[in-house]
Amino acid sequence: MAELIFVKRIENAPNVYSFIFRSPENFKWIAGQFIQITFPHDNTDSRGTKRFFSISSAPFEKNVMVTTRIETQNSSSFKKAFFNLKPKTIVESTDPKGKLIVTKQDKKIIFVAGGIGITPIRSLILDLDYKNKLSNVDLLYANRDNDIPFRNDLENRKSNNSSFNIYYFISPDHICDETVKKIYRKFPDCRAFLSGPPGMVKSIEDLFISEGMTEENIKTDYFTGY
Ligand SMILES: Cc1cc2nc3c(=O)[nH]c(=O)nc-3n(C[C@H](O)[C@H](O)[C@H](O)COP(=O)(O)OP(=O)(O)OC[C@H]3O[C@@H](n4cnc5c(N)ncnc54)[C@H](O)[C@@H]3O)c2cc1C
Repeated sequence: MAELIFVKRIENAPNVYSFIFRSPENFKWIAGQFIQITFPHDNTDSRGTKRFFSISSAPFEKNVMVTTRIETQNSSSFKKAFFNLKPKTIVESTDPKGKLIVTKQDKKIIFVAGGIGITPIRSLILDLDYKNKLSNVDLLYANRDNDIPFRNDLENRKSNNSSFNIYYFISPDHICDETVKKIYRKFPDCRAFLSGPPGMVKSIEDLFISEGMTEENIKTDYFTGY
């Protein structure tokens, strides 16, 4: 367990906000991991006081950042209160965990993000870039509209890395079966990292597997709760 001290909130896109926290010196995470934050607040609804969030910042950025979608009207009591966090408020966090991490970089990497599922992938991409390892990497990023969270961060990395490619799929366009099959057939020796809504992650995971990818080459984060 660790205490995170709230520093500030940033708007990344309409209804998408990042929350930046100072963490204790010994709070370490690997790019791609998540935490569970406990945040007691008034008038707590049935969803309670705890939420999982991927850490959207990379370790070299030092501060812990979590990013979430908050539609103020329809949001849970947690998100309404979180939106109004005051600087210096302390929230409790578990130690970071999760397996959506790059352990070996001996193959092409395909990152697939659906909407706010970009959070761990932003961390992974910035971390690879920081380590001069952002090569032979593709990102497939589906979003509901053109207000794409972290677009600038991603485009900046792309301009410095000629073998890092980004493909956007803006609704009603989506990452369809044909796209996944085409990619897998072009790069059968790759690893896939999938993050986003459970339905989307599951269907893409199943598709890669049906095309012949082995389970050890696929890592997934299911963003349950939306
Ligand atoms: C490993 C992991 C990592 C995750 N990482 C992230 C992340 O980086 N960013 C992120 O945003 N989420 C992430 N999630 C999901 C996150 O934990 C929440 O479940 C999600 O953000 C939904 O939050 P919420 O419950 O506050 O609902 P909201 O986002 O406020 O609402 C979602 C939907 O539920 C409805 N709703 C809200 N409250 C209620 C209620 N009391 N009763 C009935 N319906 C309600 C809303 O109207 C809306 O349709 C992650 C989940 C996991 C498991």
